[in-house]
Amino acid sequence: MARIYGARQRLSGRYDYAVWSDEESWPPQPEGYCAGPWDEILRRHEEGLTMMGIIDPAMREAWRKPQGDQFRFHSDGHATPEEAEACYRRYSFDCRREFDTPEQQEPCAICAEWTTNMIDFPQGLWFAMRACVDCVKKTDELFAAYEQLRK
Ligand SMILES: [Zn+2]
Ligand SMILES: [Zn+2]
Repeated sequence: MARIYGARQRLSGRYDYAVWSDEESWPPQPEGYCAGPWDEILRRHEEGLTMMGIIDPAMREAWRKPQGDQFRFHSDGHATPEEAEACYRRYSFDCRREFDTPEQQEPCAICAEWTTNMIDFPQGLWFAMRACVDCVKKTDELFAAYEQLRK
């Protein structure tokens, strides 16, 4: 039983980034931003907490909220598999980046200012990128730089 992740075409012809199984018969589940809309993500999150029997409001609050930029969640799919894959890279970029400050300076990927600030991409995103304290908040530009670097 293996889980497969990737762009997956719907009957309608549109593509989602999804997870499915090579053996079980459950339908492919959209993943990341393709699994929206946001209020649906929140509703499923709440439902999950209830199913786990977590009813105390403080404990419910403490359980990690769904991550990501809520305005990017959608359920209308993509025209191409490449778009669906880029959608998931953005989701991973938004949710999984971590910050580090190694001693050695390197140029910022956006403004080329020397910096010790570093963004790390664990869990399958394969490299670290420098971004100075000013540029680290420019997430759209950072993602564009990331997409350039990974080519
Ligand atoms: Zn998507
Ligand atoms: Zn910079």
